[in-house]
Amino acid sequence: ITYTNHPRIISRAAMSTSSNSPPTLKDQSLFKQQAYVNGQWIDAKSGKTFAITNPANGKEIGKMPEMNKDDTQNAIDAAAKAFISFRKTTGRERARMLRKWYQLMMDNIDDLAKLITWENGKPLADAKGEVTYAANFFEWFSEEAPRNYGETIPASVAGNRVFTTKEPVGVAGLITPWNFPAAMITRKIGPALAAGCTVVAKSPGETPFTAAALAELAHRAGIPPGVVNVVTALDNTAEVGEALTSSDTVRKVSFTGSTRVGKILMKQSSDTLKKLSFELGGNAPFIVFDDADLDVAVNGAIASKFRGSGQTCVCANRIYVQEGIYDKFAKAFTEKVQNFKVGPGDQEGVTHGPLIHDRAVSKAKSHVDDAVKQGGKVLVGGQEMPDLGPNFFQPTVIRDMNADMALAHEETFGPVAGLFPFKSEADVVALANDTEVGLAGYFFSKDIQRCYRVAEAIQTGMIGINTGLISDPATPFGGVKHSGFGREGSSHGIDEYQIIKTVTMGGM
Ligand code: NAD
Repeated sequence: ITYTNHPRIISRAAMSTSSNSPPTLKDQSLFKQQAYVNGQWIDAKSGKTFAITNPANGKEIGKMPEMNKDDTQNAIDAAAKAFISFRKTTGRERARMLRKWYQLMMDNIDDLAKLITWENGKPLADAKGEVTYAANFFEWFSEEAPRNYGETIPASVAGNRVFTTKEPVGVAGLITPWNFPAAMITRKIGPALAAGCTVVAKSPGETPFTAAALAELAHRAGIPPGVVNVVTALDNTAEVGEALTSSDTVRKVSFTGSTRVGKILMKQSSDTLKKLSFELGGNAPFIVFDDADLDVAVNGAIASKFRGSGQTCVCANRIYVQEGIYDKFAKAFTEKVQNFKVGPGDQEGVTHGPLIHDRAVSKAKSHVDDAVKQGGKVLVGGQEMPDLGPNFFQPTVIRDMNADMALAHEETFGPVAGLFPFKSEADVVALANDTEVGLAGYFFSKDIQRCYRVAEAIQTGMIGINTGLISDPATPFGGVKHSGFGREGSSHGIDEYQIIKTVTMGGM
């Protein structure tokens, strides 16, 4: 099979209308260029700022305070002060706050989506989907907050009575990435507040405006000053991270990002023995067995590989297709990719936006070049798209991949799909597990015994069977091995922000 068509490129005329100044929001006061600490909008003490650019055209769209360790310490102090009273609020009171915040997000969905598209690049429809997904964490955890039960335990000692309660762990430091500017933050703040913790969130340097808009909505929802603090930094990110991890007041750090940074933060947290949860990088295997429904598998692969232009931690990275179905799959999958419309996310009809920055483009290109050098055949795409802007890369499909290629053992985090042929179930399970990370995995099969067998054999925290989409606030999200530990979402998500206290009363 040889396909040479490239994804459709939208015209220069369309390009020129893409945003390079702040978007017009229905409610312009959601566009903030300050940090939010102790209920106030503030600048960095130093007065320094950093610029944020629109990934669709590389143009500056606004500034945010470049905060340092002293600014972070002020936010930690505010959170510690607020914790004294917030921890005493009832679950039902906290539920009402979260529910209000949820409602405000949904009421402002169009503005929040615009902000996401503007700073992250993803198409508006995807951005709206993210806002709903993000708000759902507040809704879900508003329902968990009042049902945070302890236990009554039959004692081993006669005359003793034993019960447990759940207490908020304290001030939580939250660090999140740019790929889901809203959802990665709400997935942490929702359970933290439900548990009664107060937080200092470091917003992503690339996408701080969505985080600031969420803080504004927290304010309007009546969340007390100091309970939610959002600090901002780009060049000083490591300094802010160190202030959070080395503080004894901060009792919990929850981080979503790369495995490399996760390891740094874990080392930094060791002196203060913090509770940690880390959602780190993945390298998801996506397996299509001969007995799969081809259309379902192709649609699953499209959704899983190309969502966010390949920039999600649960994106399919290695697509293994069994020999009997390989050619058919490659053809049908490539045809779908050829129909993508790549362009700025705020353009009508665009299905796939830019990558976040030029380093992401270089990585995608290096994985393509490496695969081609070692015998991979490009079926579609494979190139940068300078006509569209500095950060665009063609959605790409490469066949005849093998285990020696860079894409087989590194997370691409871009729109490059490599199709690896395989012979047997045993072979593919071994290949799928031959990685130090284990976040998401997917497989497609109609054989029910195989479904159980393979689900048990794959070493990941999450498995999608006959679906490419697995994220849901109601289900536990997290990894194994170097993809980290801890679970977000679901009834387990709240556990990460609380301690179990055992009360033993004697002499009964
Ligand atoms: P990154 O680790 O470079 O950055 C993530 C966040 O950490 C950013 O906000 C950044 O500002 C901050 N950061 C960077 N260096 C820091 C330091 N020394 N101290 C404190 N904070 C620091 O990751 P990235 O490249 O921006 O994001 C992509 C990575 O995130 C991918 O590996 C992806 O798989 C992972 N990710 C994981 C999940 C998940 O749930 N497991 C979700 C989204 C993204």
